[in-house]
Amino acid sequence: MKRAVYPGSFDPITNGHLDIISRASKVFDEVIVGVLINPNKNGLFNIEERVNLIQKCVKNFNNVKVESFSGLLINFMKNVEATVIVKGLRAVSDFEYEFQMALMNNKLNPNIETVFMMTNAKYSYLSSSSVKQVAMFGGCIKDLVPDIIINDIINKLSKEGDNQLWKL
Ligand code: ADP
Repeated sequence: MKRAVYPGSFDPITNGHLDIISRASKVFDEVIVGVLINPNKNGLFNIEERVNLIQKCVKNFNNVKVESFSGLLINFMKNVEATVIVKGLRAVSDFEYEFQMALMNNKLNPNIETVFMMTNAKYSYLSSSSVKQVAMFGGCIKDLVPDIIINDIINKLSKEGDNQLWKL
């Protein structure tokens, strides 16, 4: 049983993320989407909301689960008995940081392997930040995020319009 973790902030999940989840679900027996709780970073959505949004989008995958975690990724992996980290790579700019993280995680636990999936060319420009920026200024986010969560994002932004706590 090969269980992989796909970690990230997912604030919110985008079609780029969903594409990686879908592909990973075909490669591994089980994929756990790990939503990182970062106490130093205020998101647009709180952790529970992010988990719920992802759950809505992955409900048709029977081998994908969604959980939140804090602290070291390798400790979370031990708790859920996963041995593979899945990461998506968009551009060369992602590489340096991801390379360093992969080496560090491997140093902390040599039994953990990081597997990189190249972005689908359709989504190579897509990030959670850019989605929030487009939506905040009234742009159309169809094709950028799953249809099922478009209204959640628009509603949240209209409520949080004057709230400067979250950052793009
Ligand atoms: P973002 O950079 O959009 O805020 P996260 O920090 O939540 O996303 O990223 C989680 C993982 O998903 C990372 O491995 C990141 O490289 C990957 N990822 C994000 N957007 C895409 C995309 N458009 N295509 C492929 N992988 C992506």
